[in-house]
Amino acid sequence: MTKYSHSKLGTFLQCKYKYKLQYIDKIKADLETIEPFMGKRVHETLEKLYKDLKFQKVNSKEELLVFFNIAWNKNWHEDIVINKEYTAENYREMGKKFISDYYDHYKPFNHLTTLGLETQDFLPLDENTQFHVRIDRLACDKEGNYYVCDYKTNSSLKVQEDLDEDKQLAMYSLWVKQKYPDAKSVKLVWYFLAFDKEMISERSAEQLLKLKRETLHIIKEIEACNNFPTTTSPLCHYCVYKPICPAWRHEFALEEQQEEALDGKELADTYAQLDTEEKRISKEKEELKEKLISFAQKENITAIFGTDKKISITPFVSISYPKTEEFINLLKEKGVYEDVATINTQKLSSKVRKNELPEEVISQLSTEHGWSVRVGKRRD
Ligand code: SF4
Repeated sequence: MTKYSHSKLGTFLQCKYKYKLQYIDKIKADLETIEPFMGKRVHETLEKLYKDLKFQKVNSKEELLVFFNIAWNKNWHEDIVINKEYTAENYREMGKKFISDYYDHYKPFNHLTTLGLETQDFLPLDENTQFHVRIDRLACDKEGNYYVCDYKTNSSLKVQEDLDEDKQLAMYSLWVKQKYPDAKSVKLVWYFLAFDKEMISERSAEQLLKLKRETLHIIKEIEACNNFPTTTSPLCHYCVYKPICPAWRHEFALEEQQEEALDGKELADTYAQLDTEEKRISKEKEELKEKLISFAQKENITAIFGTDKKISITPFVSISYPKTEEFINLLKEKGVYEDVATINTQKLSSKVRKNELPEEVISQLSTEHGWSVRVGKRRD
């Protein structure tokens, strides 16, 4: 039985290389970043709040903040990475504020009955696949409505449309519907603690069926995948594999002043310089081209002579065509399709790279491997 989770699928969609390191090679990363560290401590504290409530113990806000501080100190280690211009203390204060605001907002915490905290289970998707369910807090009200509650400690507030498309809690609601057939409705609730804001969404039976189909489709894609390239994005800055990732390793080596890394830096600087020069020349050439065309039109000539070379100015026609089946059929009917249709080699090579072509097709191709070298910003 293969087990998948929302974060496992999310990792595959975000970066296949990260997926390979984490779930296939099972490489444990030393790097821990401050945001998830703070998030974990906040989750632990809110878990304590509701766990104690089950035993009729109502913690005061101060007691909870003491618990948070103790958990913070106990788990803190000097290798935790802080990427931004803030300190660990700033993050600690943020966590305390989240708990404090939540406490003031929901005290005395009795409008829902807690059924589970950090609830963990597996939802069967088919005979071979299970989906990992982990709910921060599962609750219900007296009318038979169930609530899948999720605490968010990130500093961006989602918009309602994003939440209506969210897959994680929607998958969990499938599990709730299966486990609690008496559920009149399953509400998905996000607590954006940085904004002291609660947002709610819900899914219809059709939407859940579609989501289940899509999830199984991604799982199929994962199981067929044998090529795991890196995909860089702003999320790389939170990736625990960044120091060993080929897309970033050189930056780390530079920070450590490794000699081979400095050789690479020199090559990159020279290449980037030439690239800038090339772009400048190309822009200048375009401007000159415009002037040459104007001159040729004014003089009604088709060639302009320099000292050693001549520049020919000839008109050309650029066309666009309807990308429809009707148009293709028309070309075929008129017997010109074979003359004008070409195979899109870019798409073909992308399919070769992704291993998306049948063997019979691949065996007909002759492939030449090369490298693409392009210039980008340091933080790309
Ligand atoms: S740092 Fe970025 S590119 Fe590298 S593994 Fe992580 S997510 Fe992928």
